[in-house]
Amino acid sequence: MSKYWSQIIQALKPYVPGEQPKDNCFIKLNTNENPYPPSPKVIDAISKETDASLRRYPDPNCEALKQAIAEYYSVKKGNVFVGNGSDEVLALSFISFFKQRQPILFPDISYSFYEVYCRIFEIQNIRVPLTAALNISLADYAQPNGGIIFPNPNAPTGKLLLLDSIEKLLKQNDRSVVIVDEAYIDFGGDTAIALIDKYPNLLVAQTFSKSRSLAGLRVGAALGSEELIEGLERAKNSFNSYPLDRLAIAGAVEAIRDEAYFQSTCKKVMETRERTVAALSKMGFSIVPSRANFVFIRPKGIQARELYTRLKDEKILVRYFDKPRIDEYLRVTIGTDADMQTFIEKTAQIVAAA
Ligand SMILES: *Cc1c(COP(=O)(O)O)cnc(C)c1O
Repeated sequence: MSKYWSQIIQALKPYVPGEQPKDNCFIKLNTNENPYPPSPKVIDAISKETDASLRRYPDPNCEALKQAIAEYYSVKKGNVFVGNGSDEVLALSFISFFKQRQPILFPDISYSFYEVYCRIFEIQNIRVPLTAALNISLADYAQPNGGIIFPNPNAPTGKLLLLDSIEKLLKQNDRSVVIVDEAYIDFGGDTAIALIDKYPNLLVAQTFSKSRSLAGLRVGAALGSEELIEGLERAKNSFNSYPLDRLAIAGAVEAIRDEAYFQSTCKKVMETRERTVAALSKMGFSIVPSRANFVFIRPKGIQARELYTRLKDEKILVRYFDKPRIDEYLRVTIGTDADMQTFIEKTAQIVAAA
């Protein structure tokens, strides 16, 4: 605490991301990064852009990237917003759409950054409990609200809400903005982008950090009606003219273009996920059905916290949340087959010794 801090800053509880250890000796299964490198074409594009032009500001409107994303999803450029990671896109969305008279709604178990944005922007919110089976119950969202947001698939559960449910939610909620945070949609779900023409209150947030292996580049996007996108541009242009640098724009454009590479890495991650689920089920662990690049598991024969600590001793990092309702679970990112093999072997040894 400091007497120089504003009241808002004093009251904040900043988001704490998963650990990023300095040494490389860990198998990192704690921050949902992709185990595969970005497409070689992305690295090429970034290298080519690394020249004297860096003395110049980048394109403040990121036209090339918006164009590439618009073509990819068959929408107009005016339906696309881009930002410095989807965290920034989400932050700007909270200011643009969620500062309303009514509280916003999001699941009690979801991306914990939402609460942090609510605090910094002083947005009232109701955390709507997931059902006992960790599902979103649409009926619980049929209440007056200043907006709705949830990850799909949800994080940290990995559970997918199907498009017809999302459409029902949009229909029952035409007065406020619904944000579907699709950070993990490419690992087995259908994007809601197909619905943006029909529902002007739908905003779909995506990121290049997970399925496109570019967490280090910081690129995120939002797709929605031109009305919503214009709102986001107003917020962005009142905050930072150049959230994406020249290297990020060049790399992200190429990541969108290299469809074959993208498909093959997503497929590998999904196949490894299914093998991991099978192995953990055999050990008696309960596993929430996942359509993401992680699994949310309840260990058997050992407490989740204990398993987290023991795995760390073995140089394997997973994510443990010391929070009500989920403190018996671990979230484990899907790595390479070799990573997961090691994870499963070490876990079996630790459980046997417990
Ligand atoms: C990882 C993640 C993000 C943030 O992604 P960045 O683009 O890296 O900022 C947003 N939402 C959810 C649910 C995530 O898991």
